[in-house]
Amino acid sequence: MLIQPQKESEEILLNEALARNIQVEYDTEFIAMKTDESPHKAIIESNSQKNEIPYDYLIGADGGKSRVRKLSDISYDGLQYDEEWELYDVELEMELNRDEGHIRFFPEGSVLMIRLYDNVWRVAGRMDSILNYMPKKSKIGKILWQSKFRIHHKIAKKLSWGNIGIIGDAAHLHSPVGARGMNLGIEDAYILSNLIHNNNLNMFDEIRRPYITKTVNGINNLTMILAGNNKRAEFLRSNLGIIKFIAPLAMPRARKFILGIN
Ligand SMILES: Cc1cc2nc3c(=O)[nH]c(=O)nc-3n(C[C@H](O)[C@H](O)[C@H](O)COP(=O)(O)OP(=O)(O)OC[C@H]3O[C@@H](n4cnc5c(N)ncnc54)[C@H](O)[C@@H]3O)c2cc1C
Repeated sequence: MLIQPQKESEEILLNEALARNIQVEYDTEFIAMKTDESPHKAIIESNSQKNEIPYDYLIGADGGKSRVRKLSDISYDGLQYDEEWELYDVELEMELNRDEGHIRFFPEGSVLMIRLYDNVWRVAGRMDSILNYMPKKSKIGKILWQSKFRIHHKIAKKLSWGNIGIIGDAAHLHSPVGARGMNLGIEDAYILSNLIHNNNLNMFDEIRRPYITKTVNGINNLTMILAGNNKRAEFLRSNLGIIKFIAPLAMPRARKFILGIN
């Protein structure tokens, strides 16, 4: 498995923006839009100063709590799971292959294990105290970072309206299973900018929604197999040994899904 830390992804994107003479303005907040006069204006606050900036198009790439979406009264359709997932970056000494990602299945859930560097692994799972689910004889060292998160599977009721479009987590949220979030957002950005270039922003919802719906549903199904709190998922996880003969058929499809080339 290849892992790219978020810091590196950000450096690559920042350098690419700078090479195209695009300045990223930090500590700058979009407050609201004014749409009662032409051209429409975005109110932007920076250094405690508010400025009104005229725009032809407004693209909300402002994450799950998107103000662009909320100010337009567009909500998400979908659901949030109550259970919390645990996440650790932890030093581990154990016999698992260090160059592969691992999923360990238990009747009550599963644990994802990916080595980041040296003997530091990222470990995630929905059960309580997931470090109790490490392979036998593992030596657990320092915990370098830990966090908890809840998962959602949601899609905004509209992806574009008037001269506004929303992309990335502002438009859809799903569990990290499959590692698709950032990539879906980059695809959105590519498709939306092409449509704007051709004066067709109004088609974004129609073009993009079927793929996003299919992908978020697929991620939800995968997440349920890994972590679902129901009898069917428990049965599947407890009997993987019996049905492992389907792995050679299932894995190529899973790989294509994860790479977004399905
Ligand atoms: C544990 C975990 C693991 C993940 N692993 C992967 C993975 O392996 N691969 C993958 O592809 N995805 C992964 N994801 C998903 C990925 O992180 C997100 O889908 C992605 O970061 C969404 O990008 P975004 O730009 O849409 O939103 P965000 O990353 O939330 O960025 C939104 C930005 O907008 C800014 N903002 C918000 N409001 C305003 C405002 N009013 N004015 C100005 N700026 C504002 C915020 O400060 C932020 O910088 C993972 C997510 C989690 C939780």
